[in-house]
Amino acid sequence: MAPTATEAVARRVVTTALGVAACERDVEKLEFIEEKTRDFDSEQERVLAEILARNNGAEYLRRHGMEGRTDRAAFKACVPVVTYEDLRPEIERIANGDRSNIISSHPITEFLTSSGTSAGERKLMPTIEDELNRRQMLYSLLMPVMNLYVPGLDKGKGLYFLFIKSETKTPGGLPARPVLTSYYKSDIFKHRPYDPYNVYTSPTAAILCTDSFQSMYSQMLCGLVARTEVLRVGAVFASGLLRAIRFLQVHWKELAHDIRTGTMSAKVVEPSIRAAVDEVLRPDAELADFVEAECAKDSWEGIITRVWPNTKYLDVIVTGAMAQYIPMLKYYSGGLPMACTMYASSECYFGLNLRPMCDPSEVSYTIMPNMGYFELLPHDPEAKPLCKDDPPPRLVDLADAEVGKEYELVITTYAGLCRYRVGDILQVTGFHNAAPQFRFVRRKNVLLSIDSDKTDEAELQAAVERASALLAPYDARIAEYTSQADATTIPGHYVVYWELMVGEGGEWPEAAVFERCCLEMEEALNAVYRQGRNGDAIGPLEIRVVRGGTFEEVMDYAISRGASINQYKAPRCVSFGPIIELLNSRVLSKHFSPACPTYSPHKK
Ligand code: AMP
Repeated sequence: MAPTATEAVARRVVTTALGVAACERDVEKLEFIEEKTRDFDSEQERVLAEILARNNGAEYLRRHGMEGRTDRAAFKACVPVVTYEDLRPEIERIANGDRSNIISSHPITEFLTSSGTSAGERKLMPTIEDELNRRQMLYSLLMPVMNLYVPGLDKGKGLYFLFIKSETKTPGGLPARPVLTSYYKSDIFKHRPYDPYNVYTSPTAAILCTDSFQSMYSQMLCGLVARTEVLRVGAVFASGLLRAIRFLQVHWKELAHDIRTGTMSAKVVEPSIRAAVDEVLRPDAELADFVEAECAKDSWEGIITRVWPNTKYLDVIVTGAMAQYIPMLKYYSGGLPMACTMYASSECYFGLNLRPMCDPSEVSYTIMPNMGYFELLPHDPEAKPLCKDDPPPRLVDLADAEVGKEYELVITTYAGLCRYRVGDILQVTGFHNAAPQFRFVRRKNVLLSIDSDKTDEAELQAAVERASALLAPYDARIAEYTSQADATTIPGHYVVYWELMVGEGGEWPEAAVFERCCLEMEEALNAVYRQGRNGDAIGPLEIRVVRGGTFEEVMDYAISRGASINQYKAPRCVSFGPIIELLNSRVLSKHFSPACPTYSPHKK
């Protein structure tokens, strides 16, 4: 939006190629984006040479014949494309305390615990100190881009629900924690200078509390107190924002009571949080009445804009697995725009959305070439998995990406990951200058996801098998199954549809048996799932027993829509509305897991 004449006089108006910058700092950041995306390929060449110059003395690159070499051609010829499994020996050595230069010549300072799993446990991503600056650099580009589309964000605050998780140590003594925990605990975040465009309602002490109840309670309370100042509401992922709404549904009476009395609930015991909240909480009967009146209404439609009436957009990722939450967020926000601002992972931060106010279905991320060295593996869904003796796959440089094609992202990082397959499938939608832009298609092999959990087909199969053992005494077997991530409950939960066959002399299991089966499946699922269940990120797993013949009907339906009878396989996960409706209309009984599965943060 063009500035008015008075605004233009009050400040120097600078139009960058991306649009009119909101302030001097933004000019610099927007020009930085322009410069890097214009020189995309030479920047990639430079980054690769820099990474190789740093790390080619480390054991990994030396082993692959790269000692003393920094050129792209040699790198592509010598260094293999790898997965986490391939790197596991190196990662375990580092985790166990080997301080020699294994993958990086800079010391590995910590492990970032990825939500991706391997053998049921979280992946450990080695990182080095200066990666933090690179992450910060990408964050610093987000508001300048947002300011191009939403004016006046310096006139109010952001209500962001941000959390840290408890951390563990590897046997060798390095911290292992999620990337955002590492970032929020860093001095860069804790001691960030005042920035009018980035004022949060949540006190830092509340964000830094590992107790999720105290953290959420105090963040919500401060958000309510500042309700008219709030210009944007967000969380990292859509599931987190919905959890905050659910929290308000459950706790609004207590929160209103605190606002009425000007004293925070005794359930929040952390002194640093109490001190921070004390600064903003005053007895306010009018606000307490308002909160009670709004929250007591039967309908929560549009609750976000009712409680925070000046909210201009939701800042929350709703691409990829999070797209399932779009309808719920639309309902609670009265259709506010949802800004997906960036695309990142524990391994590396990748890029940002240069049109953050676009519709979620149109979100494309522009990769920033200074974050790491990126390559693309053409994605062929029909291809067989590679065997050891197969020739290495041919990777494409980002500058040569073809619009419309799908690729898997392969990264080489300053921390020492070389040609590492991230597992994300991206589709090229276009270019900004010379930088390709990507739609996030999906994570490879992920069947079910509610929050940061990712369950693949093999894990679901193993869980179903393990639970089915409980049916043996009844001479009952699972004839067919499929699943669905149910995003209509908060938190969302896994639903597994079972069609049973009971032998001649067998008997139909009673409800308690199915409940035990639910828990047994949860016990079999990976650590990220079980952690999510023990927090409040994922609801209890549900088994819906469907009547005999249901899966045949599903097959008939698929065939009527063109599936081949010969090749038909029951889908192990369904998201297509008519099939879900069909399954739901054949349900005989529903059963929920009666308890949380075991989870210990002290296992890695
Ligand atoms: P983690 O390994 O836990 O750090 O998770 C990183 C993964 O989250 C990425 O590899 C993606 O699969 C997913 N992810 C991150 N950002 C986005 C985004 N903006 N849209 C969709 N998926 C994302």
